[in-house]
Amino acid sequence: MSASTDQPFPFVQVAVPTPLHLLFDYRWRNPEPPVPGTRVKVPFGRRSVIGIVVLGLAESAYPANKLRAVTEVLDDEALLPEDIMSVLSWASRYYHHPIGDVLCSALPVMLRQGKPVALAQREIFRLTTGEHVAPSEKKAALQHSVYAVLQEAGDQPIDASTFAAMSPRWRSAMKPLIERGVVEADSSMVLPRNNAVETGPVLVPEQQLAVEAITESLGSFSPYLLHGVTGSGKTEVYLRCLEPALAKGQQVLILVPEIALTPQLMRRFQRRVSGCLVSLHSAMNATERMQNWLLAAKGHADVVIGTRSAVLVPLPRLGLVVIDEEHDGSLKQQDGFRYHARDLAMVRARDRSCPIVLGTATPSFETLNNATTGRYVELPLTVRAGDAKPPILSLLDIRRRPLIEGMSDRLFDAIGQHLEAGNQALVFINRRGFAPTLLCNDCGACADCRRCDAHMTVHAKRSRLRCHHCGSERPVPDACESCGSEELDRVGYGTERIAAALEEAFPDVTVARIDRDSTRKKGALQTQLDAATSGSARLLVGTQMLAKGHHFPGVTLVCILDADRGLFGTDFRSLEQMGQLIIQVAGRAGRELKQGTVLIQTRNPDNPMLQTLVSDGYQAFAKIALDDRRLAALPPYAFVALVRAEAPDAESPMRFLRGVSERLLNPPVPSVYVLGPVPAPMERLGGRYRAQLLLQADRRSLLNECLARLTVNLGTLKDAQKTRWSIDVDPVDLF
Ligand code: ADP
Ligand code: ZN
Ligand code: ZN
Repeated sequence: MSASTDQPFPFVQVAVPTPLHLLFDYRWRNPEPPVPGTRVKVPFGRRSVIGIVVLGLAESAYPANKLRAVTEVLDDEALLPEDIMSVLSWASRYYHHPIGDVLCSALPVMLRQGKPVALAQREIFRLTTGEHVAPSEKKAALQHSVYAVLQEAGDQPIDASTFAAMSPRWRSAMKPLIERGVVEADSSMVLPRNNAVETGPVLVPEQQLAVEAITESLGSFSPYLLHGVTGSGKTEVYLRCLEPALAKGQQVLILVPEIALTPQLMRRFQRRVSGCLVSLHSAMNATERMQNWLLAAKGHADVVIGTRSAVLVPLPRLGLVVIDEEHDGSLKQQDGFRYHARDLAMVRARDRSCPIVLGTATPSFETLNNATTGRYVELPLTVRAGDAKPPILSLLDIRRRPLIEGMSDRLFDAIGQHLEAGNQALVFINRRGFAPTLLCNDCGACADCRRCDAHMTVHAKRSRLRCHHCGSERPVPDACESCGSEELDRVGYGTERIAAALEEAFPDVTVARIDRDSTRKKGALQTQLDAATSGSARLLVGTQMLAKGHHFPGVTLVCILDADRGLFGTDFRSLEQMGQLIIQVAGRAGRELKQGTVLIQTRNPDNPMLQTLVSDGYQAFAKIALDDRRLAALPPYAFVALVRAEAPDAESPMRFLRGVSERLLNPPVPSVYVLGPVPAPMERLGGRYRAQLLLQADRRSLLNECLARLTVNLGTLKDAQKTRWSIDVDPVDLF
């Protein structure tokens, strides 16, 4: 072998997508040294897989003749540059999730499959310099038109699409022009460029202060909590902070809960931002996703608006991070690599020395605690923008009141009055379908899911029973499945039933129902939202899809039907989530000139938490609830992790977790409590039995130390082969 191929790294460490917490060594035969963050094809067992280079090695701990060689190098430069590699390695250690899986999940699917890195190109044409004779209009009409377009454009290249719009035969006209040297063809990258068509309003003093604080800290790590009541103009603050960041040549990352649900938000950014603006979300197809990912990762995109996984995208010029609705549960990935996008964003901002803004009207308790202890600077927006006043919340006691389809007479009266006055009303119930239970009046049996410990929901319009946990369906039976009786009752309420009841009570107005069922068809959500915004639908009924960031100018009344469920939820976060949801839904009322009213139906009007929320607001509510968390040694005052296990039988997960528990306790890590194993609150889901083990610690480092014992060979534990298991660090719920 010649000396020139003697590069210093004959071996390479590769991250491969497997459940093993290991990197794998391979031989490296290329003359150039391996580049961390590039993709390679490697043999793995009997398969060939795409992995990611982590490190070039001068020597391997394994004998060279035992190592296999990298089969193919797929990239010349790092797809995952150093900074993102280091954040992802950190995440792999923090979440105790296998490094190979973490690195691969950061790539869009097509790149994970080994597709070449290719930014979309477009064909462009321009006239060459020099004297040309224009094609004759009579003999070659199309050639003449093509020429005319190019001549008018001067030096500016013209896109193929322009000619395609002129005639489907444009290529046969273009060809002779190119052959004669009149026109030159080229290709150029497709850079979606957005031009602002609108400027913002004059900021109110609090907005101004927030913008100044954030923009002054461009270039240094500064976390902010932008704590603004609903409708206070938080989005306006993001937009104003964006301008100076772009002017400095920086990229801005904006994480939002669900873009597909809030098309208004995306359109607002399009109207206001000049530059390359791209979005990243699950409703895109794989090609679009890869394109936008590459535009971001290669530094072409100036502003990236995305859902959770956009936090994993490389951004070489990152200068500002915004997390809108930071309390939203969708920021947490709930399977596989279970990361919290807010927490990863914080790590990225720190690494990048850039400001990060967490915006919300209802901060998560973690964030509130970080603001209280001074880790985050709180920027309050206490008044609504424009002349909008805050809505007035009140409890509607429904004990011993006549109820029609779950709604009290006083609620109907209120809706009637608001409609009469020409306004819109919104009715919120966080259940879709017609009724959550189908009950037999004779034997008391409910129609249950055959694969889950759950009742089937009745969907009346489609005449189906549907399980909202696993998705299984069957027709609504005519008779009880247990005893054959025909005395079946549909018990409880969902959006479908409430919408039907309102249609009957108010036959003259249009009712728009907005939930996952009514918006499944492409474009259906947009149609419903347009009807809600324009006011052509006067009554809106919906689930939490209606709570998220929408601006319906004509809504003056918001009715919340099932607030009590959150009061007695089984999870430690139920109360926090109830408070957030009520305030967010309430925030849809009275966003313009007319005062908003919010009526909350309850059978617990004396409940102190509900009362505090309604009369003293979210912050006072959170303070009390946080005290309870402290007493119970729960987050944010303690650190928890959940080890989950599931199998087709009920015994294996419990036996496996007993083994896990033993390993965690031997020897015990001081002040880490291991609780369980216990069957999950809903033990059977989708035909599998689930159990869990809770770890609780007052120091993060100790929790980490304890969990680290689980990343080395658990395969020897009893029932490990039968069980699927996972670690969830900082779980959002204990289900
Ligand atoms: P949030 O994000 O806090 O819900 P938005 O930024 O959507 O609030 O603002 C609510 C409404 O108030 C929007 O219609 C917005 O255009 C308007 N708005 C925001 N800031 C101002 C301002 N300074 N002056 C007038 N209107 C404003
Ligand atoms: Zn029966
Ligand atoms: Zn089910």
